[in-house]
Amino acid sequence: MRALITGGAGFIGSHLADRLVAQGATVWALDDLSTGTRANVAHLDRTPRFRLVEGSVLDPALVDNLVAQCDVVYHLAAAVGVRRILAEPRRSIEVNLHGTEHVLAAAARHGRPVLVASTSEVYGKNAGGPLREDDDAIVGSTRTTRWLYAITKAADECLALAYARETGLPVVVVRLFNTIGPRQTGAYGMVVPRLVDQALRGAPLTVYGDGQQTRCFTYVDDALAAMQALMATPAARGDVFNVGQPREVTIERLATLIRELAGSDSPIAYIPYEQAYGAGFEDMRRRVPDISKLQRLTGFVPRVPLEEALRRIIEHAKSVHGQRPAP
Ligand code: UDP
Repeated sequence: MRALITGGAGFIGSHLADRLVAQGATVWALDDLSTGTRANVAHLDRTPRFRLVEGSVLDPALVDNLVAQCDVVYHLAAAVGVRRILAEPRRSIEVNLHGTEHVLAAAARHGRPVLVASTSEVYGKNAGGPLREDDDAIVGSTRTTRWLYAITKAADECLALAYARETGLPVVVVRLFNTIGPRQTGAYGMVVPRLVDQALRGAPLTVYGDGQQTRCFTYVDDALAAMQALMATPAARGDVFNVGQPREVTIERLATLIRELAGSDSPIAYIPYEQAYGAGFEDMRRRVPDISKLQRLTGFVPRVPLEEALRRIIEHAKSVHGQRPAP
């Protein structure tokens, strides 16, 4: 089997590449290296069954050519991270909308099964109980830049479902809830790699707002196991699934845990949102997945608890820190 992973040199994409290669597949990773890196897949360089194609999902001819030669497509390429969305809104919209259009059109032309990675962000400000796939998306004004991520990914979902209905394209949409793991970078805002890096440097841990907002963090291997299980389940086609683990943690507790596990004595610094993201930023107070639909279809059970996930991330970050030349 040959798999195409768009965004294959990114954090999640590179872990998926490892997993598929280990399972015996051939993997082609398409990445423009905007947020993905060669270093994420450097260890696969000597594997003849892995190939990194440096290019963009915005190139329809390239996408078509690659999709035609592969048996299955994992579409993970997207503009990710709150900071990046705020810094490059136009590029983010183009990548998220046109990139997905090109991938779905090529998959439909060549009849290839495709997984489209979406995000829990599509629920927007819906901070109710555990979120089910059919719950309302409540996004704020288009004048608040943050929401363009939710809006564009929701449009991607609509397009994927329209392809399924109108052309019978075997497509599965997954909404990922705060996936974490080694190789995730804090450069685009993600809280876990940022706090881990700060803890290891002895710098203050930046907790935004009052730190009582919650998230459910999912270890990357668990997220990938769920994604693969869905791709192997015909009944999942043409549908949308939450992928995550439902244990909720406040960001303040997360910071304390990271500090403990890293053996760090960094203080916690509470930073107002305006200072972190500029005026008018809106955060989500709570975001918990209901994963009963995923579990019913695939029997999925998350295996890696938050503490263990953080331990692995800290170990990996320490090894990377160790490799950095002294300042
Ligand atoms: N956050 C924080 N400190 C940081 C980065 C993020 O307290 O250095 C908060 C952020 O405001 C949010 C939560 O951590 O409430 C998760 O942020 P992230 O950007 O990782 O994910 P998302 O907001 O998309 O769930």
